[in-house]
Amino acid sequence: MNTTTLSFEFFPPKTAEGMGTLRETRAELAKFNPEFFSVTFGAGGSTRDRTMDTVLEIQQEGFQAAPHISCISSSKEEIRNLLHAYQAQGIKRLVALRGDVPSGEVSSGDFRYAAELVAFIRSETGNHFHIEVAAYPEFHPEARTPAADLLNLKRKVDAGANSAITQYFYNPDAYFRFIEQCAATGINIPIVPGIMPIYNITQLARFSSICGAEIPRWLKMRLEEYGDDMTSLRAFGIDVVSELCETLKVWGVPSLHFYTLNRSGVISNIIENIGE
Ligand code: FAD
Repeated sequence: MNTTTLSFEFFPPKTAEGMGTLRETRAELAKFNPEFFSVTFGAGGSTRDRTMDTVLEIQQEGFQAAPHISCISSSKEEIRNLLHAYQAQGIKRLVALRGDVPSGEVSSGDFRYAAELVAFIRSETGNHFHIEVAAYPEFHPEARTPAADLLNLKRKVDAGANSAITQYFYNPDAYFRFIEQCAATGINIPIVPGIMPIYNITQLARFSSICGAEIPRWLKMRLEEYGDDMTSLRAFGIDVVSELCETLKVWGVPSLHFYTLNRSGVISNIIENIGE
């Protein structure tokens, strides 16, 4: 039986084959009785229809689906239409983000920061949606200072966010310290750790350099040691991430949110290892 609430994040597949794989992934992860499945959204609305289609399919299967909405490069009118479309479909939970401007492009649009999106969602739809926002235990790469980043999370909470999901991290102390700092800043919403399984060191290093999540030196060196031996690397990754989840669970995290990359195998092993 689950003692920790779980949720799983997907990206909207581009092909019918990808949709098929995602259906299998969902069927496998459904056995853990997740609170919701969330679906990412490309900045500027590039995945608008695919995110919507994936969300509606999840909902039709009887699960709670939470679309992500990123606001950068979008107009108020576009976001308004999207919110009302989700509301009409009975969607009750959103993950509200700023998003990133694709490299080489300049941001155009009505929103600069996620706090403005949260305020807009509340002004358009009142309390209809449970709003999740992003939080950064190792701080967002563009933040001027850690304190400024915390104040930004506070602004999102003050604008109406109900809970937050963190960027992934491999050092649980970063999360514990962040939670203390949030409490000291008057941020009192649940802050759910985002968990990134380890599949591949090149991919993980690329993600981490973009989003500012640290791969500790010992972990990077151990992963590099496996070279092309992916089977051993994944087995080691499962041990490392299971231990992280166990530490977080013992500490008393409210829930765990898994970045699935649309795969279930490694995550199922981790969740079974921590006795969920
Ligand atoms: P914000 O909260 O707006 O913060 C962005 C930066 O601006 C921070 O450095 C903050 O400190 C700073 N800032 C905020 N307000 C001000 C201000 N008034 N003055 C000066 N600085 C300020 N991206 C997608 O495109 N699609 C997704 O589906 C998606 N899903 C995600 C899910 C999770 C759980 C997480 C953690 C991230 C996700 N992202 C997604 C990535 C996210 O869009 C990026 O991390 C983006 O760079 C910041 O988004 P945000 O919502 O945290 O932005």
